[in-house]
Amino acid sequence: MKRADRLNVARAMAVGLAGLAWANTMAVAAPASPSPAADPPTNPLWSEQKVRNYLPDMSWPEVEDLLKRTDMVIIPVGSLEEHGLHGPIGTDFLNGTEQAKLIAQKTDVLVAPILMPGNSPYHMGFPGTITLSAETIEKVYFEAVQSLIKHGFRRFLLLNAHGGNAATTRFIVDRINQETPGVAVELGEAAGPFMSGAYKAAVAKGAKEFPEPKVFDRHSGVGETSDSLYLIPNLVNMKVARTAKMTLPPHLQAMLPQVIAKDRTANLVFLAEALKAKETGKHTSTGEMSDTGVWGVADITTASAAQGKVQTETFVDASVQFIEAWKKLRPMGVN
Ligand SMILES: [Zn+2]
Repeated sequence: MKRADRLNVARAMAVGLAGLAWANTMAVAAPASPSPAADPPTNPLWSEQKVRNYLPDMSWPEVEDLLKRTDMVIIPVGSLEEHGLHGPIGTDFLNGTEQAKLIAQKTDVLVAPILMPGNSPYHMGFPGTITLSAETIEKVYFEAVQSLIKHGFRRFLLLNAHGGNAATTRFIVDRINQETPGVAVELGEAAGPFMSGAYKAAVAKGAKEFPEPKVFDRHSGVGETSDSLYLIPNLVNMKVARTAKMTLPPHLQAMLPQVIAKDRTANLVFLAEALKAKETGKHTSTGEMSDTGVWGVADITTASAAQGKVQTETFVDASVQFIEAWKKLRPMGVN
């Protein structure tokens, strides 16, 4: 999945978090146990028994106590869909949720996962994918937000971790703003203005820079796989990862150089047709375009936890900066 382009730097972060092109580091599916310094970096929360401010882990008195400190909730919006030969079906839900947990450790807000599946009709050619209609997704999240509002939460940050949910997420945000006392934003969009500074700060502190991919690298490619190697390391099986054989319809294949060069018009036209359900007859479902389910031709074995760490930390840092700014612009308790 991918989210919309925020920055080159973190384009997949949220967005599927896919991202930069990275150095050739051994991608190892590490166990959750603490690892020596020489091992790949790992999401520090992945082995936690109970994560602070993570709703499913909390008791009601803990939620009541948190309400005294914040009215903000991050809601990950994920998917259950194929992620190539090597990635788990839950990649988008899990990566989005892990990012949300990391953000909540740095700025005191609730993380409330609601649904695992999202809108993924164009991945149905691979076993295991579950797709829900935009209407169903919107209804479930909206009703969940109504419950949280009843308890006193007021501000909602929807963290969309799957490109296919982008329009639905925007609609949920608008419904919350138009129809309830709550106020909502899409966190990827909100963090956007802080991404470049967050990335530069990470590099200044010694983070390795990973150049932009020179080839097409989207769904479950190097950027997204790197995020998974950092966020959910023991669920990625790099032993079976391989570069996909891609077969795009010829007119879309012809647009690829401009798409890779980030020509905005080419990207708009390309994505309007690409990644659509098989039933549309466009021949752009992943099952029709890729033999593994990965949508891209970058060498997946170059994905690394090191790249995932930089992508994740950049997005987490930018998100925290936005949340802190929102807390200042509109203090809690103002009605
Ligand atoms: Zn994904």
